[in-house]
Parts: sequence; C-alpha cells; structure tokens
Amino acid sequence: MLTQGPRGTKDILPDTVDRWLYVEQKIRTLCRSYGYQEIRTPIFEHTELFQRGIGDTTDVVEKEMYSFTDRGGRNITLRPENTAAAVRSFLEHKLYAENALTRLFYIGSMFRYDRPQKGRYREFHQFGVEALGVAGPAVDAEIIVLAVRFLESLGLKDLTLSLNSVGDPACRPIYRERLQNFFRDKLNGLCEDCRSRFERNPMRILDCKKESCQRLSEGAPEITDCLCEDCRSHFEAVKAYLESAGIQYSLDSRLVRGLDYYTKTAFEIKYPPLGAQSAVAGGGRYDGLVEEIGGPPTPAVGFAAGLERVMLALETQGLYDPPPRQADVFVIALGEAAKIPAFSLLVSLRDAGFLALMDHSGRSLKAQMKQADKANARFALILGEDEVRDGVVTRRDMRTSEQVKIGRQDIINSLLCAEVKD
Ligand code: AMP
Repeated sequence: MLTQGPRGTKDILPDTVDRWLYVEQKIRTLCRSYGYQEIRTPIFEHTELFQRGIGDTTDVVEKEMYSFTDRGGRNITLRPENTAAAVRSFLEHKLYAENALTRLFYIGSMFRYDRPQKGRYREFHQFGVEALGVAGPAVDAEIIVLAVRFLESLGLKDLTLSLNSVGDPACRPIYRERLQNFFRDKLNGLCEDCRSRFERNPMRILDCKKESCQRLSEGAPEITDCLCEDCRSHFEAVKAYLESAGIQYSLDSRLVRGLDYYTKTAFEIKYPPLGAQSAVAGGGRYDGLVEEIGGPPTPAVGFAAGLERVMLALETQGLYDPPPRQADVFVIALGEAAKIPAFSLLVSLRDAGFLALMDHSGRSLKAQMKQADKANARFALILGEDEVRDGVVTRRDMRTSEQVKIGRQDIINSLLCAEVKD
C-alpha cells in the first residue's frame, strides 16, 4: 500500500515531464500574446467559496469535493476548479481597479472525488482563463479563439467545438418552466439524480449521461427558442465574431449549466478519439458569479481545459515525441587520485552551462562508458592517474570513438568549439 499512490492520482515521471513543460510553455506563450496574466491561488479555500461559486446543486459540490475541518475548526476544501478562487482573489486584491477588462490565466492541479478511469482522475490539472469586467460578445469569442488556438498550437486535429446559449435570469425561468412541463409525466423514468434535479435544476437533466434519461429527454424544448432579445443578439454576435476568425462550431442545445450565475454563452471542445472522456475544454459566461461571491456586479467569461486529456490526445495523435535527453559530456574518473580533479572538472563544466554528468560510483572504465552511452553523451572526458599527473584530460568523441588529450585549462574551450551545447 505504501508503495502505491492514492486511487485517482498519477505521478508525472521524468520521461513525461518534458511533455508537460512543452504544453505549459505553449500556454504561457499564447496567453502572453492575448494579454492574459498568470494567477496562482492556494490549493485550498474555504468550503463555502465553492458551495457558492460552483453551486450547491452541482455534482461537484454535492459529491466530489475533498473537504475537511482543519485544526482550527475551519471548513476547508481542496479546490475542485479554479474559477471561484480566481474571482475571490480578483475581489480580495481589487484587480478590477486598474483595467476595465481583467485577463487572468492559471495552470494547476484540481481535486474531485470522481470515479477514476482513463481521462478522469481525482487529482488532475487544468489550464484556464478568466476575463472579467466586460459584458460584450467579443470577449466570449476571444476566449473561445484562445482555447481553440491553444489546442491547435499543439498540432491537435479533428477537434469539435459545440456552442450554446443558456440564457440569463430574465429568460431562463420561462425555459425552466417549459422543461418541467415536458418532464413532469416522465419523472418516474428518470434516474434518482435527475428526479431531484427536476425541482432544483431541471436543465441539468439534459446533460445526464444515463442512457434512459437521454432517451427521455429527446424532443425536449430547446433553450434557444426561449432566449430574450438581449441573449439572442449576444449569441448571434458571438457566432459572427467566431466566423470572422474562421472558427468552426456546431450548435448544441444540450450544452447546459443551469445555475443562475451562468449566463449566455456555453461551449465545449471535444477530441472525439478519446471516447467517453473526450471533453478537453469547457467554459462560458458567468455574469452573476462575482456578485454571488460578494463583489460588485461584474460580467465575466472563462474556460478550463483538462491537461491530462490534452496529453492523452497528443499521445493518440502521435504528436510530440520528446527528443532523447542528451548529455553534453560525461566525466569518467578512474582510480582514487582522479576523483577530486574529476569532481572539480564536473563543477566547472556545469558552471559553464554544459549538461555534464558523472557516475559517482567509481566503477570500471567499461561500466562508466556504458553509462556515458546511456546518457547519450556527446563526449566522455576521462581522467585516470596519467591524465591527473600530466594535467590533461582524454576527450573521447562518443560518435566516432576518436580520442585526444587536451590540457585541463583548454577543455571548456575545446567543447565550446565542438558546439556540444544546445
Ligand atoms: P469543468 O471544470 O468540469 O468544466 O471541466 C473542464 C475540463 O477539465 C473538462 O473538459 C476536462 O477536460 C477536465 N476535467 C474535469 N474533470 C476531470 C477529471 N476528474 N479528470 C481529468 N480531467 C477532468
């Protein structure tokens, strides 16, 4: 048990860290060009923040939070998502004071007591953006373009973008009533969760994953038929902006969120080859959330992308094979007398910026050469008793096996001339 991590967690091992760094680099480069600034909020927050900020009736809050009472008696929860925390920080530090539009992004781990399977974990990582302070449809389009460009920049193809509007507190009650009328005589056929959603949050019935509920919701009224003038024109404008950027989308009236502070635009990006867990990013407008958390009325829109799924998609498409790690030089010490001079050479090589390795085991030349080979070293630098006595180093070209003796002082220059450094 002690040698196995908790269920639903994954170690990111040295051979995949490069891929994570690569993706994170893409995120940072892209966000910089869109003017989004990174924010890092704590891993845990007051439980109430998520109850308010995600909603008491959501699966996340009802069933999936890692919550506990700390030693001071506070109710604490490991963040299941980052939007509520970003908004909390936005309010706490008055980030709205300087700019009308505040653009934030984050990368970090989130925690949900989900049923683990491929693409679904209990600790997972999200990259997300939040744009706070402006109500116009161009901001919705901006973040959708950002999400699409992020995935495209990794070389992912065959992505699908679904788009919907979930209305606002003016028009949603009408839709809610129509939905309840539609489901009233089907209640017995719905799953237990959906029966409880019927009163509290009927729109969520539409995105229930159970087949029987999906069948019963066929022919349900569509939100887009109930939109008020404001929501309708906003939706049309978002579509026009997306079209102007050449972004393809399809409309999906089942894409719902159903809580009062989610308004207007909702979207989801899928990578269908991932099967059941194919949603790689999702988001939308949440004009009521900042107020819900205790701030001034502030329109906002955001999305989050699941990075484990992005990694799976990269693997599926055979993209990004990290180049094998290559050491510039491998220092080999032979015999007791060579140990300290070899160590000092190793330090000076590293100080000069070379990727320099040494096997501190003091094993045979053959064993150490094997290590140098394994590390893909360009050169081996061998120090035996003779070399130490003569103040030289034997430099072996690991590709051609050619060996030359070089004075200790000249070794760094000789490597610079051989252009071994990246
Ligand atoms: P959400 O915060 O639920 O809107 O999710 C946004 C994105 O995070 C989803 O599209 C997934 O890519 C990812 N995601 C959500 N839950 C998990 C999970 N348990 N494991 C891995 N990825 C997840």
